[in-house]
Amino acid sequence: MSLVENLENIQKSIPEHVTLVAVSKTQPISAIQTLYDAGQRIFGENKVQEMVAKYEHLPKDIQWHMIGHLQKNKVKYMASFVHLIHSVDSFDLLKEINKQAAKHDRVIDCLLQIHIAQEETKFGMDEQEAESLLEVYKSEFPHVKVVGLMGMATFTEDESQVRKEFNFLKSIFVKLKSRYTDLEVLSMGMSGDFQMAIEEGSTMVRVGSSIFGERIYS
Ligand SMILES: *Cc1c(COP(=O)(O)O)cnc(C)c1O
Repeated sequence: MSLVENLENIQKSIPEHVTLVAVSKTQPISAIQTLYDAGQRIFGENKVQEMVAKYEHLPKDIQWHMIGHLQKNKVKYMASFVHLIHSVDSFDLLKEINKQAAKHDRVIDCLLQIHIAQEETKFGMDEQEAESLLEVYKSEFPHVKVVGLMGMATFTEDESQVRKEFNFLKSIFVKLKSRYTDLEVLSMGMSGDFQMAIEEGSTMVRVGSSIFGERIYS
């Protein structure tokens, strides 16, 4: 099947209230352009340099989402154009995003990444950290807006484990949203688990290999 057919099949299978982020990391500009020509406008990358290079070569109405772990010293390279940062996992990182956004007179939308997986290696904060950040950031950081939460489930065949983790993230989202009404986006679900994530309340899915095919790392 072609890239565009893959995209259309996924679009058809997700409800209208769910936003599809096409995860284009490692994929060539030509493939992104093909999906752009088919109407896709939201693309996700996990490396800042790669996203900047693609931004420079592609139409300027693409909405670029940073979905990967982010180092503070890289924020400045994308602060002029990034549309949504999914991977805010510390107060210091949010502070740096605020500082760089101010230089461009922008407000950058962000998601707080919550640790829900069993693996130690997945980044993110816990509910208490997220809550204390939400409590204080607005008065200090006028150039960022936290609009939701993001999480990654454990990489496992055990579907009940994955479902439990999505359900857990959704419950945190509902709780925080009742106090912080800016929270609208719940980013959870990838190629292997996005249907389940939607059943558990996801409003934004990040899908790479089901659109582009398996990634080839060079
Ligand atoms: C690569 C990646 C995805 C997409 O993964 P697929 O399994 O190819 O759909 C989603 N989210 C994050 C954070 C990623 O790094």
